[in-house]
Order: sequence, then C-alpha cells, then structure tokens
Amino acid sequence: MKREFIFIGPPGSGKGTQTKMLSKDFNLPHIDTGSLLREEVSSGSEEGKLADSFMEKGQLVPIELVSKIIKNRLLKQDCQNGFILDGYPRSLEQAYALDDILKEIDKNVFVQPYVFYFEVDQKQLIERLINRRSCSVCGAIYNLKTMSLKDETKCQKCGGNLIRREDDTEEVANKRFKTYFDQTAPLIDLYTKRGLLIKLNASFSIDEIYKNLTGAIKENVHS
Ligand code: AMP
Repeated sequence: MKREFIFIGPPGSGKGTQTKMLSKDFNLPHIDTGSLLREEVSSGSEEGKLADSFMEKGQLVPIELVSKIIKNRLLKQDCQNGFILDGYPRSLEQAYALDDILKEIDKNVFVQPYVFYFEVDQKQLIERLINRRSCSVCGAIYNLKTMSLKDETKCQKCGGNLIRREDDTEEVANKRFKTYFDQTAPLIDLYTKRGLLIKLNASFSIDEIYKNLTGAIKENVHS
C-alpha cells in the first residue's frame, strides 16, 4: 500500500532529522523542499536565483516554482510506494496545490496522506537554529549545544565539513518564524478538520521523538 507522509512544524522543530531517520527505516524517499531549493540555488539557474532572493529574506519562494519542483519529484519512480514530504506544503495555497498534484498522480487509487505536526516551544527553536550545523557531504544534522562534538567543524559520520546554513542567523530565523506563523500554521486547522493531523511533542530528545513518531505511525497508519 502506498504511504504518503507530510510533516509540518516550525523551523528547527527537528522535522529534517526525524524524516531522514524515517526515510531509512521505511524505505521511502525523503523529499525536503528546502534542500531541493538550495540545490537549485547552487546550480546557478535563473530559477535558483529567483528562489534565493526569497530564501535570504526568510520568505516563501513563489508557489509556481515550488509546485513544479515538487510535482517533478513526486512523479519519479522511487515515489511509487509513497514518500515523506518535509517542508511542503507551507501555506493553504500549497496544500490545495498538493491536493491537485496527488489527485493527478494517484488517479483512481485511494491514498490517505498522514500529516504529522511537530509542536515545540519557540524559545527552544531559536537556540536550535543558531546552533545547527549540517554536513556539506552527507547532510547529517548536528546541534553544537546539545551534542558534544570533539571537532565542531567535521562530520562524525563521514568526515565532511560542517557548515552553518546562511539563513540560520538570528535575524533571518526570526523572519522565518513570522512566515511560519502567518502562512504555515493555518495548515494545522485545515488538516485537523480533515481528520488527518497527528500531533507530536517535539521538545524531547531525538531518540524519544523518534520513538513517539514510530509509535504514532503504528497506532494510526493502516498497512
Ligand atoms: P527549510 O530548509 O525547510 O528551512 O527551508 C529554507 C527556505 O526555503 C525557507 O525559508 C523558504 O524560503 C524556502 N522554502 C522551503 N520550502 C518551501 C515551500 N514549501 N514553499 C516556499 N518556500 C519554501
């Protein structure tokens, strides 16, 4: 049976870390719009330049571009058994666009998406963001404050360089929160009304959150 998982949560709520773990264990592709957009920016394309002008201000990239990227990605062969969407949709407009994309892709097959919402205190989030580093090679995510790394510049898994994302400064992070509360938070209501929302407390440790997440999947997701 096809499994479609959607993850919503404020910046720094740990969606990236948890969805990567889930992707490995459930053998489903992890589709992270932020990373797809950063790849587009690095490619130097016109679309990348356009995306960058919004990303550097902590604003949402125009829907036409994001929907195109997502649709192309969801049409790939590896999404046949399902996928994990991390960071999309991020507005009501995108949620309706996703409805249309999924209707087109799934056609006559009935697939019930599950929406996980990561709830966490905002004070903790700023701390997490400004201390976040990620590996430039394998994408592993670290927190300099909560993980004691022998070398804060190197990935413990593959030895790649650890980098700080350009938008993980306090100034841009605050703008990203504003964007989240204004545009993404209304999705909680939408998916609650549709009976699809599963809420998780994301203030715990990585392992505890993962245990709760996989527990919630066992409880709610029919195989
Ligand atoms: P993230 O890596 O998820 O924190 O996303 C980084 C930035 O990419 C965001 O601040 C937005 O500028 C942009 N972005 C990511 N996902 C979306 C989306 N679904 N719609 C529009 N912009 C997005």
